[in-house]
Amino acid sequence: MRQTILTAAGALALCVAAQVAAAASTQAAELNIYSYRQEFLIKPLLEQFEEKRDVTVNTVYMKKGMIERLLAEGANTPADIVLTSDVARLQALADAGVLQSVRSAVLDANIPAQYHGPDGLWYGLTTRARVIYYAKDRVAPEHLSTYEDLADPKWRGRICMRSGHHIYNRGLIAAMIAHSGESATEAWLRDVKANLARRPQGNDRAQIKAIKEGLCDLSIGNTYYMGKMRADPEQRPWADAVAIFFPNQENRGTHVNISGAAATKSGPHPESAIAFLEFLSSGAGQQLYAEQNFEYPVNPATAWHPEVESWGRFAPDTLPLELIATNGAGATRLVDRVGFDD
Ligand code: FE
Repeated sequence: MRQTILTAAGALALCVAAQVAAAASTQAAELNIYSYRQEFLIKPLLEQFEEKRDVTVNTVYMKKGMIERLLAEGANTPADIVLTSDVARLQALADAGVLQSVRSAVLDANIPAQYHGPDGLWYGLTTRARVIYYAKDRVAPEHLSTYEDLADPKWRGRICMRSGHHIYNRGLIAAMIAHSGESATEAWLRDVKANLARRPQGNDRAQIKAIKEGLCDLSIGNTYYMGKMRADPEQRPWADAVAIFFPNQENRGTHVNISGAAATKSGPHPESAIAFLEFLSSGAGQQLYAEQNFEYPVNPATAWHPEVESWGRFAPDTLPLELIATNGAGATRLVDRVGFDD
């Protein structure tokens, strides 16, 4: 057996090496996040993850410029994880080459394949449906059916919408292009435009407020806003004036989009990044994340929030999500061509 004799200098060197190793392992128990999702949504999750995994999480909340920032930082980026809503934003990050492909048996077990990005470059974590909100006292739900039906002249002057260029509407229009082609979708958009009660303006909740005020009878909006309005004393009367209708249940299903996460290509803590993605897909992570914003968990084993459950079960459109991203440019073109926002 080889004898190791330590000199004083040798012992010092070993000691320094041990300190460096200790520092390195402290560094490893860290996770840096760039998030387009708001702090109130993800803070409870981050706190649970920090506690469970003994990891320090640092988060930068951003409203725009994530791709540009990741490209500028390149191999030196501190970001391990990105969080955002909308499949088009996730796919744009993938297309920019700033994401890392992740393979994990835990993610495969927890997240249905339809919510996996190509090559595991991103993962959907929650879904939200884009539904019809209708005035309970002026519209009978039997008269509602599909998105296509919103183009019918019977709705002349009765629909409120936000901008056609907003990413939520762009996603819906992109899905319609994927299903029906560009010219049918253009005709539909033109006819819906003709049915608008006013020029597109405001956000999803502003349309429902307008229904409450009697300006219009129908709008298109994301499901979770019902939960948010009901939880807000000022907006509660808007929510109480409307009900949710899930369109296209007789054929392709209601349009859904996702929120999701991805590991970055050059993040310094890849192990923490995978552990975090797995945590977000797990029962505890899914429940916290989905409930915070009244969204649907992607993990089928996770129960829905009672408020979300009260809107009813529905069949979602099973169109591959990437097609919403790839048809986004076509949707923008159509919105411009029909002058939807004018
Ligand atoms: Fe939203």
